Amino acid sequence: MNKKPTLRKRIGLELFRRLKKNRVILHEMHTLFWECTLRCNLSCRHCGSDCKVSAEHSDMPLGDFLHVIDELTPYVNPNKVLVIFSGGEALLRPDIEQCGRELCRRGYPWGMVSNGMTFAERLEGLLASGMRAATISLDGFEKAHNWLRCHPQSFKKAVRSVQGLIQTTDIKWDVVTCANQQNFDDLPEFKRFLIEMGVKNWRIFTIFPAGRAALIPELQLDDAQFTQLMEFIHDCRLEGIIHTSYGCEGFLGNYEMEVRDHFFQCNAGVHVASVLADGSISACPSIRSNFHQGNIYNDRLIDVWNHKFQPFRDRSWARKGQCAVCNMFRYCEGSGMHLYNDRDELMFCHYKRLR
Ligand code: SF4
Ligand code: SF4
Repeated sequence: MNKKPTLRKRIGLELFRRLKKNRVILHEMHTLFWECTLRCNLSCRHCGSDCKVSAEHSDMPLGDFLHVIDELTPYVNPNKVLVIFSGGEALLRPDIEQCGRELCRRGYPWGMVSNGMTFAERLEGLLASGMRAATISLDGFEKAHNWLRCHPQSFKKAVRSVQGLIQTTDIKWDVVTCANQQNFDDLPEFKRFLIEMGVKNWRIFTIFPAGRAALIPELQLDDAQFTQLMEFIHDCRLEGIIHTSYGCEGFLGNYEMEVRDHFFQCNAGVHVASVLADGSISACPSIRSNFHQGNIYNDRLIDVWNHKFQPFRDRSWARKGQCAVCNMFRYCEGSGMHLYNDRDELMFCHYKRLR
């Protein structure tokens, strides 16, 4: 597929642009991440590539986070704000189930992202505490997964977690895979493995060469492989057996709507907010600290949401560097916010990678 948007695609992109403007004006919070711990039971190769705070922070007391929730509740419809526990590995906290119950009591749906190391044994309790959504990382077959996760049992445990989720009803869950040199050639076979297990939703993401990840060439796909990956996801979607998508990051030209269910929009700060381990308020958890908007220990989340977050809602500042001369800026607006470095410079353009 040629990467340049066709006329038909451009019409779709123009219509979506209007919709996007309205969404920015409405500015409704749909997702609230809580980076509930920076502790982890794995030491994955790609972890740290996006690090922006020290892992020395101790876990935020549950009461502090619930205080944020209680301050927020009068201003939102709790049923429409999905709270997601992220980390580190959220399940290193013993009180996730308690937090889940407290959120349920207040009307918030909640979910989590997990590496699957202890998820299977906690699943019953998590479900009993009202968990509504989950994402498990599974990065290919055993060798590739254990290589990335640097742990000999990590694949078996993640698979057990997925098998547990397959037995559930009424919860939304998916498997997320980091495409890299170790698993790239196996993706078609891995897809069959997921289908045979009973996985219905599969999300694939890629790692961009920055920070620690830049030092490990096997973590990155080259431009030809990246384009091949888009073709692969497109084919999976046409086949329709497993709902496959590319992650939310990056404008993808003519692949827009072909590899995701929606046109590209970075929802950070438009629909997504985060409370980070040290209390910082941000949009997505992986956005660097130069974009932090306040701290729960000094500010009310709702005030920050309503009166700050301008760099996320008005992206005109991003029209600089390579984006200043790009004729896709009107649709892309300088890509995902997590792709900006400490000097507010874009580190990576997905569109340019496409062949
Ligand atoms: S150069 Fe900038 S605006 Fe153009 S596609 Fe890349 S990230 Fe988007
Ligand atoms: S900051 Fe990145 S991860 Fe967050 S919504 Fe934007 S593109 Fe997605």
